[in-house]
Amino acid sequence: MATRLDGKLVAEAVREGLRARIEALKIRGITPCLTVTLVGDDPASHIYVNSKDKAARDLGIEARTFRFPADTTQSDLEAHVRKLSADPAVHGILVQSPLPKGLDEAAVVDAIAPAKDVDGFHPQNVGLLALDRPGHRPCTPWGVIRMLAHNGIETRGRKAVVIGRSDIVGRPMANLLLHKGPQGDATVTVAHSRTPDLPAVVREADIVVAAIGKPEFVKASWIKPGAVVIDVGINRVEDATSPKGYRVVGDVEAAAESVASALTPVPGGVGPMTIALLLSNTVDAAERLNPAA
Ligand code: NAP
Repeated sequence: MATRLDGKLVAEAVREGLRARIEALKIRGITPCLTVTLVGDDPASHIYVNSKDKAARDLGIEARTFRFPADTTQSDLEAHVRKLSADPAVHGILVQSPLPKGLDEAAVVDAIAPAKDVDGFHPQNVGLLALDRPGHRPCTPWGVIRMLAHNGIETRGRKAVVIGRSDIVGRPMANLLLHKGPQGDATVTVAHSRTPDLPAVVREADIVVAAIGKPEFVKASWIKPGAVVIDVGINRVEDATSPKGYRVVGDVEAAAESVASALTPVPGGVGPMTIALLLSNTVDAAERLNPAA
């Protein structure tokens, strides 16, 4: 039976590691400040934004949430982001995705000062990641790396298969695993919807990262015995026995637990890491923007 990699525990350790750094900033008169901008009324986005807000406050990070109506213009939104970028009291800028139809998300991200781009989505940070140079890393794949490290799981020299090539998970995940050093040095394959014979590709992997968005798509029979399985997927499936009428499952079949050596549960695996790394990136930003004399 696979060891369950508990994301709540590791996320707590990440938050714990931030407390002293936040205190040190406050002694210097600097309160780390994360801003979250929400446009429109997507109910799921409202839930995410509230949980980011609460997690920041619980740690003593100032959280400012800006809510805009769905008919906000591109130029107004970009002006708002540029204003935050220029505000010395603001250290982290996050614009909640997805934006309502008609708004150009890439142009809004481009307006974020790279030093405050705590999501790691600005092209400058994407380039720095690709070059293995310091910069903000996207929170979900960065959380996966921290989780592997915390659990003493070696990536060096191992074959990693990342399923998914999105800008927010798959591609940055692959880049991080490729980096030189103890938390990288993997031999990385990136698979996607055009990859032929995915089961054969996955069977080669010592480490599988599934970021597809399809419930239990990766079958237990594809997993090499003893492999490490990181399940990034968050999918709702109908479940009449649950009071909510649904339950949340990952991208990997639950039975993989009997084949893998270690596995992240869904929920409670990668999910809790994402917000913890957002807070970590915010503290990094506050420190880099205010270097100690
Ligand atoms: P996305 O942008 O929709 O990307 C999905 C990727 O999966 C694409 O690259 C797609 O390939 C690939 N794919 C789709 N069908 C496939 C198939 N049949 N075989 C192989 N590859 C296939 O999704 P995302 O934003 O990366 O998110 C992925 C999952 O992670 C979702 O369940 C999301 O909810 C979850 N997520 C979780 C967290 C967290 O905090 N834990 C954070 C972000 C996302 P193509 O490129 O060829 O279309």
